[in-house]
Amino acid sequence: MKRDTIVIGAGITGLTCAFQLRRKGVDVAVLERQNRVGGQINTHRVDGFTFESGPNTGVVKHAEVAELFEQLGQNCRMETARESSKRRLVWKGDRFHELPSSLAGALATPLFSWSDKLRILGEPWRHKGTDPNESVGSLAERRLGKSYVDYAVDPFLSGVYAGDPYRLPTRLALPRLYRLEQCYGSFIRGALAKARQPKTERDRKATKKVFSARGGFGTLTEALATAIGSDRIITSARHIVVKPTAEGWRVTYEHNGEHCELTARRVVTTCGAYALPHLLPFVDGETMGRLSHLYYAPVVQLGVGLRQTGGVDWPAFGGLVPSCERQQVLGILFPSACFDGRAPEGGAVMSCFLGGVRHPDMLRMTDDELTQLTNRTLHDMLKYPAGTEASRVCVFRHERAIPQYELSTDDRLAAVARLREQFPTLTIAGNLRDGIGIGDRIKQGFDIANDERA
Ligand SMILES: Cc1cc2nc3c(=O)[nH]c(=O)nc-3n(C[C@H](O)[C@H](O)[C@H](O)COP(=O)(O)OP(=O)(O)OC[C@H]3O[C@@H](n4cnc5c(N)ncnc54)[C@H](O)[C@@H]3O)c2cc1C
Repeated sequence: MKRDTIVIGAGITGLTCAFQLRRKGVDVAVLERQNRVGGQINTHRVDGFTFESGPNTGVVKHAEVAELFEQLGQNCRMETARESSKRRLVWKGDRFHELPSSLAGALATPLFSWSDKLRILGEPWRHKGTDPNESVGSLAERRLGKSYVDYAVDPFLSGVYAGDPYRLPTRLALPRLYRLEQCYGSFIRGALAKARQPKTERDRKATKKVFSARGGFGTLTEALATAIGSDRIITSARHIVVKPTAEGWRVTYEHNGEHCELTARRVVTTCGAYALPHLLPFVDGETMGRLSHLYYAPVVQLGVGLRQTGGVDWPAFGGLVPSCERQQVLGILFPSACFDGRAPEGGAVMSCFLGGVRHPDMLRMTDDELTQLTNRTLHDMLKYPAGTEASRVCVFRHERAIPQYELSTDDRLAAVARLREQFPTLTIAGNLRDGIGIGDRIKQGFDIANDERA
């Protein structure tokens, strides 16, 4: 069968792209290896608790996020997090402290050293960096001091990338922060200048608000799949192989034991870099080596459900744990403090993260070991009274969770561009480029669908 466009991968990127193409009347099909849509998004509803095995929240950082929900209308509602979720906690010593969000707060907090507190006052006048490959850790240490790296940057990067701030170049991992220094010479001056810039109505749709979909992110991917149409989404498609032909593309795959074939004018891939060598066998070895050279940090997420909280309440987004504090958990999110209906009345849901680039071996812990660790964390870190036990713990292991935008990213992007030159109707997308956050993924889905050159 011939289609205009075949999208490979039914995660949020592929589904957003296919939905936008459908809205334009393009004849699209989506091929997905797994037996369900959603990719890393997967919402589990167990015993009255709602657990996410992948992302818990996104940020409405691009207008496209708001627009996607506008387009879906009644079929999927965006849920923005409660006001209390602006509170972010960071572990130091034997407890969580609130991460300051103002200059006055930064001066008062016990998280940063006195010398660094004084140092922050001089941040607007510090020289800007000249090394385009400077890591986030080194940049922040140079501008703000080591205690800021330890107690703000390290836990933040651990929360986003499960990564190491000294291994991630700012230009690639946090391009907005890099541009602040490069364009304005200072984070503080840059942030103030940006806040003063005039904004169009569309610009104003992009905010710092934290969001999910009502009922969990799974309702978003399910709503997208419904809007695209079940006849256009083929799940459990195995051994997908894409090859160029004189007219466009031939895509072969196995489905329910049968050999199947589709042809199309355009192909969009949204799967992980590791899947590309098998998917695109016609790409020369050198280009493919650059394209697929990407390390994904492994992560274990524990969905923890408490039926009773014993009066302990954590009205915050979550608590992050700096690597210098040598705890086993990377951080704990409080989804039921952010969103309605995630736990039975009087209960709570938490998400504990383990592993990351620093502790990949944590994926080998057994479910029993992880449950014991959860209960220790509830008492030692979250200070629940003795006797409080998780009523439900769900273990979600991700061997390849978060792509690390290390220096090899330059080579990867060059390979994507080279293939684009060679094959204008082949788009290599997904979170191997353009950001890993849900907001970035939605924006990329729109951008690919609106790409007039393909
Ligand atoms: C544990 C975890 C927590 C996270 N937390 C957050 C968070 O809180 N906030 C946030 O913004 N982001 C978070 N992220 C990142 C975010 O979830 C991802 O970047 C995003 O969901 C990726 O979407 P995608 O569609 O690009 O890729 P994916 O969701 O990976 O989708 C790609 C799809 O392609 C399919 N596929 C793979 N190979 C093939 C093949 N050969 N043929 C066909 N299909 C194939 C896969 O099965 C998958 O369905 C988290 C990620 C993880 C793993």
